[in-house]
Amino acid sequence: MEYIDLKDDLDYSKLDKCADIIKKGGLVIFPTETVYGIGANGLDNEAVLKIFEAKGRASDNPLILHIANLKMLDEIVLDICEIQKKLIEKFWPGPLTIIFKKKDIVPFRVTGGLDTVAVRMPSNKIALEFIKKAGVPIAAPSANISGRPSGTKLGDIKEEFFDKVEAMIDGGEANIGLESTVVMVDDNKIKILRPGGITKEDLLELGYPVLVDKNVLGKSDGPLLSPGMKYKHYAPKTNCILVFSEDEEVMINKIKLESKKYNSSLVLAKKRNVNNYDNVLDMGDTLEEISHNIFSKLREADKKNVDIIFIEGVKSEGLGLAIMNRLLRACSYNYIYL
Ligand code: AMP
Ligand code: MG
Repeated sequence: MEYIDLKDDLDYSKLDKCADIIKKGGLVIFPTETVYGIGANGLDNEAVLKIFEAKGRASDNPLILHIANLKMLDEIVLDICEIQKKLIEKFWPGPLTIIFKKKDIVPFRVTGGLDTVAVRMPSNKIALEFIKKAGVPIAAPSANISGRPSGTKLGDIKEEFFDKVEAMIDGGEANIGLESTVVMVDDNKIKILRPGGITKEDLLELGYPVLVDKNVLGKSDGPLLSPGMKYKHYAPKTNCILVFSEDEEVMINKIKLESKKYNSSLVLAKKRNVNNYDNVLDMGDTLEEISHNIFSKLREADKKNVDIIFIEGVKSEGLGLAIMNRLLRACSYNYIYL
């Protein structure tokens, strides 16, 4: 396994080795502005299979293709509608994934058998340069074993993937810390399938109706659903309970009361509330800070070996929608709203 440090020394020529690995069908972990990705040549069926194996990911869970320019987009998608063009102009490069009709060149293994493909142009400079050098779209889900919190810094995921990938590129901490927003355009409307760094409010600026899929804050009711499986995601090994009230005092008192039921507990709290608890980790105060920190804090909390982790919730607005979407799954929908 090759460790490439671009955190302290932004020498892009170090990426040549990694681009070669991709061309030869290998796996490389690389930084993006959302979370770290585990990448392979997105047009190479065998290479893509290795991603599913390394992550233990279900084969019907589609991957996102990461591109460095619009020429790459033309090579993989069929037609691009007016609204999709406007989304591209306004939000690329950046944390927005758009669903398109796929061309035959895109393997069904990438799309989970669908005839649509999810595509994103990341804004992280290392990611862009890496994709450009590889010369192919890079299929990359988040770099974590399936079901676990996503990796937002290399230190958190190094051990998980040490013997499973050929190289890891260290680009420091991911800026945003949450996966991209995934949207689909249907009937002249924009539908958010997964909330992320680009908010509903950002999307509304284009002037089209924006819908939020009912599964974003609810349980998926797909036919293959087995309880505690599909909607358990981003989760520490320790059981978690999400607690939220718009009245912070009510929320804090409820957490203190509930924690008495356990021998040991830990609270993931906003910075302004940490003094209220004995055993606590600080998630930051603003929605940006919380999204940046949350996955790493979930991993840190897991190492404390407590019986239960309580997590303070946030209002589901702006970036808060993406944060609550992840936290509900991290808690397997074990939540208390007051
Ligand atoms: P991840 O790779 O973990 O960041 O997750 C990618 C997510 O993008 C998947 O879990 C899907 O929700 C979504 N996605 C990818 N491709 C498609 C597609 N063709 N149609 C609908 N959703 C998709
Ligand atoms: Mg993921």
